[in-house]
Amino acid sequence: GAGLTGAITALMMVQRGFRVTMFEKRPDLREEFKREEEEKAGQPSEFWGASLSATKRSINLALSTRGQEALRRVGLLDRIMAHAIPMTCRAMHAHDGTLSFQPYGKSGQHINSISRRLINTLLLDACEARDVRMHFHVKLVSMDTNAQLTLQRADGSRFTARGRIVLGCDGAYSGVRSSMLRVSRANFSRHYIEHGYKELTIPPTAAGEYALSPHTALHIWPRHEFMMIALPNPDKTFTATLFAPFATLDALRSNAAVEDFFKAEFPDAVPVIPQLGEQYFAEAAGSLVTIRMAPWNLRDKALLLGDAAHAVVPFFGQGMNAGFEDALAFDEMLAAHGNDFSRAVPEFAEVRQRAGDAIATLSYENYVEMRSHTASAMFLLRKKVEGVLHALLGSSWIPRYAMVAFTRIPYDEVVARSRRQDAIVGAVTWAGIAAAAAGLAWGAAKLLKRSRL
Ligand SMILES: Cc1cc2nc3c(=O)[nH]c(=O)nc-3n(C[C@H](O)[C@H](O)[C@H](O)COP(=O)(O)OP(=O)(O)OC[C@H]3O[C@@H](n4cnc5c(N)ncnc54)[C@H](O)[C@@H]3O)c2cc1C
Repeated sequence: GAGLTGAITALMMVQRGFRVTMFEKRPDLREEFKREEEEKAGQPSEFWGASLSATKRSINLALSTRGQEALRRVGLLDRIMAHAIPMTCRAMHAHDGTLSFQPYGKSGQHINSISRRLINTLLLDACEARDVRMHFHVKLVSMDTNAQLTLQRADGSRFTARGRIVLGCDGAYSGVRSSMLRVSRANFSRHYIEHGYKELTIPPTAAGEYALSPHTALHIWPRHEFMMIALPNPDKTFTATLFAPFATLDALRSNAAVEDFFKAEFPDAVPVIPQLGEQYFAEAAGSLVTIRMAPWNLRDKALLLGDAAHAVVPFFGQGMNAGFEDALAFDEMLAAHGNDFSRAVPEFAEVRQRAGDAIATLSYENYVEMRSHTASAMFLLRKKVEGVLHALLGSSWIPRYAMVAFTRIPYDEVVARSRRQDAIVGAVTWAGIAAAAAGLAWGAAKLLKRSRL
């Protein structure tokens, strides 16, 4: 697969001295995007929301430390960061349009909005420049127990290929994984959540400025059962994504119904999203899946990385980051074992699978936090308590979000540490509330006594 994980893994392997051949069933996305731009030139210019490609998926992504470290390893970090927009906080939109802000971390810490298209294009350009042999329009049909591949060209003709190892970076619907399941006793689960998503574009204002302020924030409209988020793009647009149960999404059947829904739930967003109905119906709702697989390897012959091994729901903004970190962690494992696949592959698969399972859990939990808790006063109070503890205790107390987004602490360790921290924060918060209540009661009693005198 020549997606995000496949391209960065290829670069790591080439850097390590291996020859890499990449097979991708789709056309070269760089060609496809060029064609789309040409087609778009013929569209009415105000039609921002139209998505012309069936393969287009989440126009921008949040890039954070794990992904950045992997990009640094292949020498592309600075080039990619030149196109990133820092997002320092969540900007929460209440029903009445009131904004409140929650910083993501300490001052200077932020996540980054980056175009999926740009990052994949730059990775593929680097693959080409570094002699990765890339074959587009070539689909994996199957892999046998010795990791020999049967592949199919666009004209239907088939051929076989074999290498020292097959790295399955072919996404949530991985063909490598399907073949591994046929020839081994691996365990596998696939879980669709009941929520789907729709993407909408918020164009710049007439003055050519971002329509949401500040533009250096991830905007969220939390509404308990559903939510909308918006991430900035360098062209002064925002990409908004509505996440809601399919039942809610499917119940909106006309432009008028969509507009009424938005007026009721996201009134301050309505003026900034033109052609709401047209945008809403331009694409079918996307679905969200969690994949777990164990083990990730077939002896030392084949190994899954990225979404193929651990597709996660996107609420921690970690799918790509985790895939990039897979590539980096595999590179580190190969370095530790002198490029010996027979030792590096099983060890990597075991250690990293624990991390993959943990980010799946964290990602789902963050959905509940984003759509629901971010709007609650208790949640905001707990965040404040966490911030104080982090300031006082430094690296021995790092809030869960910061551990995921701003460190390389293994995801499974993040889960264990945050469970311990949650228990303490809960106790401290309630103790604070109890102390405040006791203080209030004491003050009230004193006032009462005085008023009786
Ligand atoms: C709405 C949404 C928002 C997201 N936001 C974020 C975010 O903010 N931050 C973040 O880090 N992640 C985010 N993600 C997750 C991120 O998009 C994925 O984790 C990432 O794209 C996975 O990359 P991949 O290369 O592993 O898989 P893919 O991107 O799926 O690439 C797999 C490639 O393999 C090819 N392929 C598949 N089958 C075959 C075959 N049989 N033969 C040959 N080629 C094949 C495919 O064509 C594709 O090119 C989001 C996802 C969604 C859906």
